[in-house]
Amino acid sequence: MCGMSHFKAPPKKNLGQHFLTDRSIIEHIVHSVDPKPGDILVEIGPGQGAITFPLLKKNGSLTVIEFDRDLITPLSEAAHGIGELTIVHKDVLQVDFGKLAGENHIRLVGNLPYNISTPILFHVLEHCTQVRDMHFMLQKEVVDRMAAEPGSKIYGRLSVMLQAVCEVIPLFDVPPQSFNPPPKVDSAVVRLIPRDPAQVGIRDAVMFAAVVRDAFGQRRKTLRNALSRLCTGEQLQAAGIKPETRAEQLPVSSFVHLANFLSDAPA
Ligand code: SAM
Repeated sequence: MCGMSHFKAPPKKNLGQHFLTDRSIIEHIVHSVDPKPGDILVEIGPGQGAITFPLLKKNGSLTVIEFDRDLITPLSEAAHGIGELTIVHKDVLQVDFGKLAGENHIRLVGNLPYNISTPILFHVLEHCTQVRDMHFMLQKEVVDRMAAEPGSKIYGRLSVMLQAVCEVIPLFDVPPQSFNPPPKVDSAVVRLIPRDPAQVGIRDAVMFAAVVRDAFGQRRKTLRNALSRLCTGEQLQAAGIKPETRAEQLPVSSFVHLANFLSDAPA
């Protein structure tokens, strides 16, 4: 692997550092991203560059966002002669992706730090109109929840919030021994493709988030009870939703419809 000798610090647990060492998995990720000339690639958490350098070699340029100061100089040194690596030394949750993308559509890639993977997903989704696609490595359990269908026990807030704005495509699983140090859980790579907001049709993002949060806040309750803070049983009925339904039975489109209905209702 190019430039590995630049990296001397041991992996840091508090930063979720599990470095990919399995060549075939790295190749599989790069192949899945399939960078084309002109693509604007941004990697979250490059670490020691396992995915970074193969992508840089293929694409010629790449922006990376890394929080660990011990990795900044080694990354920059290891990139010499491979391509143009722009390093943003920042907490990814503080990065304004709208500003980073500018007029462009960026492609996001990352073997994410698992301790903050859900906050990262929600943060990135705020700017998903400027994102063409995302390829993320996450805990397999999280990918399963992201892609879960109504009626499944794991269909929940994450499934609805993500599927409302993105197509969620699980790609392949990755075992713990593909990393150093190995994480305690299985991992999986997922592709997210933002949908056209006009087609999604969410008119009030705050109301939508509130409906989804409350509905799954007490998932064993009927929607009439779980949503009592936001609406009455009569309003549910008027929106075409049976008040006895539970959140886990409701398709994503019905959450969108209900939030729009409540947002349009006179206060
Ligand atoms: N991409 C590398 C690989 O596949 O070997 C490293 C992946 S490791 C699971 C996660 C990376 O995210 C680490 O390099 C870690 O330092 C970085 N990281 C952790 N928290 C971060 C944060 N808040 N902002 C940016 N990077 C962060």
